[in-house]
Amino acid sequence: MIPALLPTYSRAPLTFERGEGAWLTTTDGRRFLDLGAGIAVNALGHAHPALVEALTVQAHKVWHLSNLYDIPEQQALAEALVEKTFADTCFFTNSGTEACELAVKMARKYWHDKGAPERVEIITFSGAFHGRSSAGIAAAGSEKMTKGFGPLLPGFVHLPFGDHDALESAITDKTAAILIEPIQGEGGIKPVPDHCLKGLRDLCDTHGILLILDEVQCGVGRTGRLFAHEWAGITPDIMMIAKGIGGGFPLGGVLATEEAASGMTAGTHGSTYGGNPLGCAVGKAVLDIVSDPDFLSDVNRKAGLLRQKLEGLVAAHPEVFTGVRGSGLMLGLVCKAPNTSLVSAGYDADLLTVPAADNTVRILPPLTLTDKDIAEAVIRLDQAASAVMTPA
Ligand code: PLP
Repeated sequence: MIPALLPTYSRAPLTFERGEGAWLTTTDGRRFLDLGAGIAVNALGHAHPALVEALTVQAHKVWHLSNLYDIPEQQALAEALVEKTFADTCFFTNSGTEACELAVKMARKYWHDKGAPERVEIITFSGAFHGRSSAGIAAAGSEKMTKGFGPLLPGFVHLPFGDHDALESAITDKTAAILIEPIQGEGGIKPVPDHCLKGLRDLCDTHGILLILDEVQCGVGRTGRLFAHEWAGITPDIMMIAKGIGGGFPLGGVLATEEAASGMTAGTHGSTYGGNPLGCAVGKAVLDIVSDPDFLSDVNRKAGLLRQKLEGLVAAHPEVFTGVRGSGLMLGLVCKAPNTSLVSAGYDADLLTVPAADNTVRILPPLTLTDKDIAEAVIRLDQAASAVMTPA
């Protein structure tokens, strides 16, 4: 019999009832160190006082307003994002998937309005993940995500990750944009090197096409800069955000330059809940904290410490791990043993990590984790790695 919850997830038998900082407590009182942060969502950990305050203050004022009216919290968040990024304008969504939908629409509408309606193709890369909607799965293109869900939305060109020659020859007079995650998350924490991001920007400029960055997982301070592309010294034309910006409240968005957004006039897009007062009040509180240079430099310091300790862990367990990759607090332990065994052994050690493709275990802790949490994380990972080699 089908369960009451559609069984699209294989869930671990863990039930959490509250959280604080980087720690989650189960209904039976076990305290787990959370190195997954709801897959890079709880950027400021659980129950951060500033976010609790922002949400409760707003909850006493107004929860929902239609986008038919001004929403001051939405306006404030948009202005703060515009001030702190390349963007001239923002549209708020409730998720990364919806951000992908708009990014695709925006790129196509741009070319339509420029008098080149044949430019509809969006180039994407193997291992990419852009959400589970029809556009998102068509963008990813993998059999795992698309099988059985056809007919797929047309207009996506899938290239191997890192194949520069294939990219050059894939650009045609039908190309609208290149869509890429600066660091693939679900794909196994695979960073696009800075020089390649620069190369992509140059290529887009040379051909006059749009660069869309998906910073849903790698953005909002995760890599130690407000957005990951800043390390490469480039800017996109369109960027998708979600996850961390809401700190746990469902919030996403599309940021764009005035030029790239020029086709999106009144009536071309909308959302009932996107940019609601609750989400935007929380998002603004997250952004105020995460964009503080002192906060970001502490993320970088902690990232250096964690990475150094993870390198030590890998060296101590060559039969379990082959390496560490990633940037900032978006790290991947590349495994030799099955990654899911390590994640399960982590549960036994009261530790949460997240598996990803390419036999990787993701380490995506709250950006607020402490030095003490880092020390504890490595002890528990070491315990989990040892258990993988000596199954009970
Ligand atoms: N893009 C990236 C890079 C993601 O990691 C995800 C989710 O994991 C998405 C898009 C989809 O976001 P959401 O699950 O909020 O719809």
